[in-house]
Amino acid sequence: MSTDTIFSRIVRGEAPAQIVYQDEDVTAFRDVNPVAPTHILIVPNKPIATLNEAGAEDQALLGKLLLTAQRIAGEMGIAEQGYRVVINCNAQGGQSVYHLHLHLLGGRRMTWPPG
Ligand code: AMP
Repeated sequence: MSTDTIFSRIVRGEAPAQIVYQDEDVTAFRDVNPVAPTHILIVPNKPIATLNEAGAEDQALLGKLLLTAQRIAGEMGIAEQGYRVVINCNAQGGQSVYHLHLHLLGGRRMTWPPG
């Protein structure tokens, strides 16, 4: 499975995106088709296709992705009211871009269970 997706191109600055945070490990940008008032995607710069492909060597990176979501939630003013962090994995999980990403969703009440 090719891991050179649109998200790798965004990480490398080769495709347009509204980047809200980037460092040597992770990149965060606005989802082009937001499903909540705040909808940010947080991706590892390294192209891991799905959560299934993450390994023990990625333990710190996975933690950093979560802490980045936490920090952006604070910066965007949704931490207090609450938010949701989602990882879709493979077809039944609803994954459409095969570069691991967290969805940070907030600014409205979330429903449960998800559809
Ligand atoms: P998923 O279904 O979990 O794989 O989520 C992929 C997400 O990427 C969807 O919410 C899309 O709206 C979003 N998306 C796809 N292409 C782009 C892009 N070029 N820039 C920003 N978000 C994108």
